[in-house]
Amino acid sequence: MSYEGVYRQLSFWHDSVPGSLEPGHSLPGDVQADVAIAGAGLTGLWTAYYLNKIDPELTIAICEREIAGFGASGRNGGWCSALFPASLGKLERMAGREQAIAMYRAMQKTVDQVGSVTIIENIDCHWAKGGTISFARSPSQLERAREEVAQARMYGFDETDIRLLTAEEARDQAQASDVLGGVYTPHCASIHPARLARGLASLLRDRGVQIFERTPVSRIEPGRLVTPHGTVEARHVVRATEGYTPGMSGQGRAIVPVYSLVIATAPLPQKIWEQIGLECRPTFSDLRHLIIYGQRTADGRLVFGGRGAPYHFGSAIQPGFDRVPAVFAALRSTLIELFPVLDDVVITHTWGGPLGIARDWCASVGLDPATGIGWAGGYVGDGLSTTNLAGRTLADLITGRDTEITKLPWVGHKSRRWELEPMRWLGINGGLRAMDWADRSEARTGRQSRTATVFGRFLGG
Ligand SMILES: Cc1cc2nc3c(=O)[nH]c(=O)nc-3n(C[C@H](O)[C@H](O)[C@H](O)COP(=O)(O)OP(=O)(O)OC[C@H]3O[C@@H](n4cnc5c(N)ncnc54)[C@H](O)[C@@H]3O)c2cc1C
Repeated sequence: MSYEGVYRQLSFWHDSVPGSLEPGHSLPGDVQADVAIAGAGLTGLWTAYYLNKIDPELTIAICEREIAGFGASGRNGGWCSALFPASLGKLERMAGREQAIAMYRAMQKTVDQVGSVTIIENIDCHWAKGGTISFARSPSQLERAREEVAQARMYGFDETDIRLLTAEEARDQAQASDVLGGVYTPHCASIHPARLARGLASLLRDRGVQIFERTPVSRIEPGRLVTPHGTVEARHVVRATEGYTPGMSGQGRAIVPVYSLVIATAPLPQKIWEQIGLECRPTFSDLRHLIIYGQRTADGRLVFGGRGAPYHFGSAIQPGFDRVPAVFAALRSTLIELFPVLDDVVITHTWGGPLGIARDWCASVGLDPATGIGWAGGYVGDGLSTTNLAGRTLADLITGRDTEITKLPWVGHKSRRWELEPMRWLGINGGLRAMDWADRSEARTGRQSRTATVFGRFLGG
């Protein structure tokens, strides 16, 4: 099969993104640049975008093992949200109350920043800023909804940021089953992620950024990226490989790759949409422990994903891990349970991919001035917009600009490393199981389960 054929099968998004997916040129031999980036996901692409904006004379080379947008950036759930993986309380403990609030406000602005770039640069990624609705579908979920809103209020976030919904208000947004209430935040857009990633890559090429595809980086060293095709020498080098980072020499315990899996329905008829709702295309979820996420696409499908696939021993990543039939079947039945009107729904696409989690569950971005090596990642499945903040921050750090965003608490943050195997495998898979048990037990008893909290603490979440 051609590369085009192989990459089209990665996800519904890759299948439906305009333009060719044939790889561009590989690195032709040794080259020099001002900045070299490993990985052409959104972290690498946004970094190049903002560097080019600050100084169009900078030479920038990106080395990508597959094609731009191959990884999580091209195949995620399409939530461009203000979610940040570390809670306000945790950020306060790390850096103080004001910094915690600044981080969350910066995330909110980032959603609009992504939206405005797509308009200015004419990238049609099916942007619809309809917010997020999280349904509370059991008494324990309702309790968590109240806690979430109460915590936000303690830090000065008001009704315009997040609010509790009555059952009726929640059902006005979407006719989900068993709804007792919910939480709504306007700070999220539904997008077609591959259109964003591929659109950005094409724009960057037009502006002179070199993207070398089918070019795996085997080592990142001060002043150079080493690949089988040659080396890229640069004063600054950036690691933008997120969930794939453990495959890099010396990075085996920096990040763990955890798989998230997704299904897409066939386009649904108008009469089904009239019963479901989601008219302004808000992203949706419920407040269970083991995360689920959905969006109504611009072409009238439901894209629906969740965690639950196993972590693989030694942080292994393989194409076969993207597809787990039992998880797809569970996602389909959860979707039908959420919207019973979908009982004979046809699933046209199934896929998945690895996302990156640092040991302390806190995303980070930084630049070591001594070595010139920059990095960003550990977004825990909230990277679609966070990569934009990371890219802007890296561009400021690399060009020596002291800005509001370079002072945010995640800048320069370093997590401790993950445990050696088999502890890592036991801990992560135990945690995933525990969250699943907790959800089942809460559905049965209606009471909050402590199992997930205990494992959540072990995992640092
Ligand atoms: C199924 C799924 C659903 C998700 N849903 C959402 C969501 O709805 N909202 C949200 O905010 N986040 C979501 N995420 C997370 C989000 O997609 C990621 O956090 C974000 O895209 C990370 O971007 P990145 O550029 O850092 O990494 P990636 O997009 O993974 O890019 C890394 C790139 O590096 C390349 N690479 C790897 N190794 C090498 C090497 N040795 N040499 C050269 N290149 C290399 C890869 O091929 C890849 O293209 C989801 C993730 C997954 C997997």
